[in-house]
Amino acid sequence: MTAHATFDRLWADLEPIGRDRASGGYRRFAWTDADLTLREWFAGQAADRGLDLVTDRAGNQWAWWGDPDTAAAQGDPGAVLGSHLDSVPDGGAFDGPLGVVSALAVVDALRARGVVPSRPLGVVNFGDEEGARFGIACAGSRLVTGALGADRARALTDGDGVSMAEAMAAAGHDPAHLGPDPETLRRVGAFVELHVEQGRGLVDLDAPVAVGASIWPHGRWRFDLAGQANHAGTTRLVDRHDPMLAFASAVSLARSLAERNGVVATCGKVRVEPNGVNAIPSRVTGWLDARGSDPDAVRSLVQAFSAAVTDLDGEVTQESWTDETAFDADLAGRLTRVLGGVPVLPTGAGHDAGILANAGVPTAMLFVRNPTGISHSPQEFAERDDCLAGVDALTAVVEDLVS
Ligand SMILES: [Zn+2]
Repeated sequence: MTAHATFDRLWADLEPIGRDRASGGYRRFAWTDADLTLREWFAGQAADRGLDLVTDRAGNQWAWWGDPDTAAAQGDPGAVLGSHLDSVPDGGAFDGPLGVVSALAVVDALRARGVVPSRPLGVVNFGDEEGARFGIACAGSRLVTGALGADRARALTDGDGVSMAEAMAAAGHDPAHLGPDPETLRRVGAFVELHVEQGRGLVDLDAPVAVGASIWPHGRWRFDLAGQANHAGTTRLVDRHDPMLAFASAVSLARSLAERNGVVATCGKVRVEPNGVNAIPSRVTGWLDARGSDPDAVRSLVQAFSAAVTDLDGEVTQESWTDETAFDADLAGRLTRVLGGVPVLPTGAGHDAGILANAGVPTAMLFVRNPTGISHSPQEFAERDDCLAGVDALTAVVEDLVS
């Protein structure tokens, strides 16, 4: 099977899994039925190719061509490709799956050409990359690197109060295994994640593929605003203590601070109690996501935002912070050379590749053009020709890495 035929077939396999009919978007959340179907699919693809499937302590799936432990012991650990299969709420088809499908297509391309890798080649499906269910992005890679502690992870809860430990156990993965996993990381000599671009960099440069340079510093904060529940009809305006008003001003402040500081800030999630049309809320919890190329500008935004929320009798809690992540310069240079001088771009989106890079794994990324720049939406898109250009670029890169 040629790599392009593999790509088309695997893409068609994934198309219906976890898709919401009404929105057209994907709801592939960690440890749900859709996620388990995707995991089974991945295991099946590994088996079809005779790859050895290893599930690590966090539940990430690694499909190996060659023996990664012997190679690691000999000081020449494997090259790994892949990405994730989970999605944000009503996410697009490309964010994550493009990297996994491309990686499997690369295996077929190498075999079709009779290439026998001189070092093991792995394909990974990282679990819970989007953090859509438990609130922590890249939970799978953060767990194996130790950036997310096991106790904290086990206690995280979803919107229904189900803990990550309970969700994992229900899905057949023992949460007692969670914890740093140096054995898994030792096998990875280089990691290359191909991903759909989540902005307009490649459209503006009129190129199908780019090499990633770095990931902007980024973080998430929760803000809790308390009030007093009361009747929407009988409570005079002057008697109200309505946290929704504080929430509205916080959201609008985040926007103006972002403009002033030259960064981006988003309030994309809110929880209202009791969440009734005819009830003044007793509590509003919002989330702030802030990112930018300059970490000081992001921090200054968060500082001003926190001060304002405190003035509104609210409380701000940092849920995560990741400094700027620079990918491995040697590896990026190697990719750029192999690909004949394609553009090199930074990104405002976080990735498992960034978590691995921060843990000391030589890591690189390839981006595939997104004609609208829209991502985390059912409208996210990439042209088939650009996806195939991505597969070809990844194949060239891997051939260089394993020859
Ligand atoms: Zn992604």
